Amino acid sequence: MNLASLNLVDINKVFPNGFHAVKDVNLEIEDKEFIVLVGPSGCGKSTVLRMIAGLEEISSGELYIDGEMVNDVAPKDRDIAMVFQNYALYPHMSIFENMAFGLKLRKMSKTEIKEKVDVAAKILGLEELLDRKPKELSGGQRQRVALGRAIVRDPKVFLMDEPLSNLDAKLRVQTRAELSKLHLRLETTFIYVTHDQTEAMTMGTRIVVLKDGVVHQVADPETLYNSPVNQFVAGFIGSPQMNFIEARLTEKNGAVIVEFEGGTVGLNEDKVIQLKDNKYTEKEITLGIRPEHIEIDPTDETGENVATVEVTELLGSETYLFLDVGGKNAIARVDPALNIRVHDKVKFNFIPEKVHLFDRETEEALLVGAAKE
Ligand code: ATP
Repeated sequence: MNLASLNLVDINKVFPNGFHAVKDVNLEIEDKEFIVLVGPSGCGKSTVLRMIAGLEEISSGELYIDGEMVNDVAPKDRDIAMVFQNYALYPHMSIFENMAFGLKLRKMSKTEIKEKVDVAAKILGLEELLDRKPKELSGGQRQRVALGRAIVRDPKVFLMDEPLSNLDAKLRVQTRAELSKLHLRLETTFIYVTHDQTEAMTMGTRIVVLKDGVVHQVADPETLYNSPVNQFVAGFIGSPQMNFIEARLTEKNGAVIVEFEGGTVGLNEDKVIQLKDNKYTEKEITLGIRPEHIEIDPTDETGENVATVEVTELLGSETYLFLDVGGKNAIARVDPALNIRVHDKVKFNFIPEKVHLFDRETEEALLVGAAKE
């Protein structure tokens, strides 16, 4: 039985040149989770993964695997398999030999090696390709060989660093689904690094959002999408990204209204109750609204909340409208059947239950619903 829980306690990485790449990372990973570390380039996600693998020294903090501290345990003794972006296959060896190589080094018997390679090849649909050389395979097939090499080792934990980045868009979508299936089938812990929020959202059972070496939020995809703890997470997760609009909270006859250049949105009671306190009334804040939470009525162009359509993008099942809202840009995602054209003036409504509010200075979410896990 391959039980694998990991615990990262106050993990830091300071490189020899003094660069502090990973800052006080705390993370408990349970057995069989599919954890995705996501963040922009340079945020430290690969460094965290490399420290877990033992390829990079931990500057301070403790790393536990199944309760045992492994800071000083050699990579080969950590029962972890890493799959890299560039596959790192041996060009002169056949696919079988590539997958068998690590097992040979461990002096496993030929029969046992063959058994393990065959099982992995079957899981990954590589049975017909075992005699070929890597150069005779497509990118997607090579990627599967790299996975196969990890699977045969039967590790407690799979670490993957942007394994899909060399694949074309279509193959990436397919392989994403295959990885999810593989995770269910192998029933082991996956830790996966990517800068792509779609990969994170589609595969992760939990997602860790990093920026500048700091963990901003750890949550399941739904929570991350619906209740981001700050403006960075809100903007990073979701495509097209959340619209941010400078705004101000005011109280009128007991109702709380968000005012911005070009319109207003009234907060419903739930949101008002969620407001941590009322110190934000009459203060400058940032309003966040996702493109799919802007309702558009093209038949009305009177009064408040009217925007001008500057660009339309038809994507088949939906249309993106690039709007001018009081001189600022916003994107709305609407039904193509609305048949909206450039230069149209349209009435818009930010769905009150879907509005996000952020402190202008700290960029923290103001609504308590967005609690950190
Ligand atoms: P990417 O998506 O671009 O791979 P990442 O989030 O995986 O980015 P890391 O590779 O973990 O980022 O690097 C984190 C930061 O540490 C970067 O700013 C990088 O420049 C820096 N860094 C990485 N290796 C070293 C090193 N050996 N010495 C000094 N700084 C380093």
